[in-house]
Amino acid sequence: MRRVYADNNATTKVDDNVIEEMLPLFNEIYGNPSSMHTFGAEAEKALRQARERVGEFIKADPSEIIFTGSGTESDNTALFGTLQAYPGKKHIITTKVEHPAVLNPCQLLAKKGYAVTVLPVDSEGMLDLDELRDSIRDDTAIVSIMYANNETGVIFPIEEIGQIVKERGVVFHVDAVQAAGKIPLDVNKLNANLLSISGHKIHAPKGVAALYIRRGTRVRPFLIGGHQEKGKRGGTENLPSIVGFGKACELAAEHLDVYSGQVRAMRDRLQEGLLRTISETSVNGGESPRIPNTLSIRFEYVEGESILLLLDREGIAASSGSACTSGSLEPSHVLRAMGIPYTSVHGSIRFSLSRFNTGEDIDYILEKLPPIISKLREISPFVETTPAPKKQ
Ligand code: PLP
Repeated sequence: MRRVYADNNATTKVDDNVIEEMLPLFNEIYGNPSSMHTFGAEAEKALRQARERVGEFIKADPSEIIFTGSGTESDNTALFGTLQAYPGKKHIITTKVEHPAVLNPCQLLAKKGYAVTVLPVDSEGMLDLDELRDSIRDDTAIVSIMYANNETGVIFPIEEIGQIVKERGVVFHVDAVQAAGKIPLDVNKLNANLLSISGHKIHAPKGVAALYIRRGTRVRPFLIGGHQEKGKRGGTENLPSIVGFGKACELAAEHLDVYSGQVRAMRDRLQEGLLRTISETSVNGGESPRIPNTLSIRFEYVEGESILLLLDREGIAASSGSACTSGSLEPSHVLRAMGIPYTSVHGSIRFSLSRFNTGEDIDYILEKLPPIISKLREISPFVETTPAPKKQ
């Protein structure tokens, strides 16, 4: 049976070139980068090169990059680290559609007495920038807003947002975990003080990520330990993964054209094919700018979980929301924030492609999905059937 992986916003396959680059770090260059001897110096050189590659990828100076263990840790460091650096400031601004790596810490902070403004989005998943502008206060410590949404792929106008936040002199954190590798990233154009990216979304291993910290931006460490990462993140560096992440960033920059070209064309063909062949189907956030690999689509009168199960039986991997929530039947907070009715949220599926997908993958999904939806609608209790004609 053919196997099609279309869940790349959950995680990606590690590129063979990344694995190759990592291998010597396990049993040849295995010193501790902090050690004084030659083993340590070799490791330190590998660490430095990885930092340079990550810096280059987002147009930052290498000294502004710290390595962390996940996108979640980068987001948590940005939030908690900033609040600790500015103890007098008690207000945070974020949005309703952020990843739980931002929303859940904000919820905790609200319980601890911080004021948290959670900005709404419209039916296309877009923010009102006037509302953002009006919500900034003198005691706002940080504005944390994602670049691209993991569920819908909707891109926020981060350059404009960055400008607004900068004018008010507030720290701006961008969660760019889903934007990385799909659209160009330039921390200066974005006016970001802090920016998170994560390895496993760009064909590097899981468990490695980075936080960009603009020179002069104050952030207290989230993990307190040794002097690693200039004292901003304790713990011996996960060097093989960091080196793999560096290589993945280099490759991601080289492949940006593939995303704006072939990957976008595949996504659009999938979208058009599904809209054409399946009735009562719409694209979540379809009117907004989106990253080129993501399609969140809803099919009325069916359960997303049933679609996923039947797709899986055909060898197709997709998702019914973000990976973190797909283990539960909680409706997606992102789609709910867009005002999509509860039942339609449940019939939503996310396809997320990568440069490893092919045109044949799209043909295969287009062949398998329409009969699955028809079959499910036949047995759906939600489908409105035409009432039987009254007896004369
Ligand atoms: N932020 C966004 C937008 C994400 O999509 C994810 C993961 O899905 C994360 C943060 C968390 O990244 P990680 O899985 O590396 O912890």
